[in-house]
Amino acid sequence: MRQGSFSPPRAYDLEYCVIATHDQTTRELIQAIARVVIEHADELTDLDRAIGDGDHGVNLTRGFAAVLERLDAIAGLPLGRALSEVGTTLIRFIGGASGPLYGKLFVTVGKHIDDAGVLTQDTLIVAGEDAIRVLMALGRADVGQKTMLDVLVPVLEELRASRGETVLPRLRQRAKAAALATVPMLALKGRAAYLGERSQGHMDPGARSSELILVTVCRHLEAMPLVLGH
Ligand code: ADP
Ligand code: MG
Repeated sequence: MRQGSFSPPRAYDLEYCVIATHDQTTRELIQAIARVVIEHADELTDLDRAIGDGDHGVNLTRGFAAVLERLDAIAGLPLGRALSEVGTTLIRFIGGASGPLYGKLFVTVGKHIDDAGVLTQDTLIVAGEDAIRVLMALGRADVGQKTMLDVLVPVLEELRASRGETVLPRLRQRAKAAALATVPMLALKGRAAYLGERSQGHMDPGARSSELILVTVCRHLEAMPLVLGH
């Protein structure tokens, strides 16, 4: 991120822009993700009470509270390694199905970001594709089964399909719409699958937490000044 007389474009054009991150932006991004999840813990738990075992908010809070406790150490790392460290912390501290899944998501995305901390749209696409592959294999799940994948995959599709200034706002809209679209779905994976047709009519808790995390990441990137030219 540059300062001074050079006035960088705003953060909406991921195609031609790179984001050179540093300690402070890494810290703010991870803190924002952890906080939004913790702030919505009751809502996530209520959603999980309707179609699961009522612990999604509790599970994620345990993991992200551990991340916040380790934030000084984590945010001192380059962005990619920091995200991977978030992932391993989630795996260590979350018991439920969502712990290993979100953990692997952060670990995998982190692996694709080099130590220069430079993000481009293409880097994010490759990282997202790899993460989805890993999650599908781990959970033996696919889209349309009423899980977090029903938000993550449509958002990745949107990232592939859109270019230009509106990418990030579009990703946010897609995340919201995709979470809402899980309401009528029949759950075929996780605990909700035991409910059969009674799982219909409720938003999937993991879809909602994925929406919250992705919207927060987009808003964070939208607020960052970018450097043109790569
Ligand atoms: P648990 O189901 O062990 O209580 P959580 O309540 O923390 O764990 O997380 C539930 C969420 O995890 C679900 O709403 C769903 O989005 C996601 N999930 C569960 N099983 C899978 C799976 N096999 N693949 C992808 N996501 C899954
Ligand atoms: Mg649960």
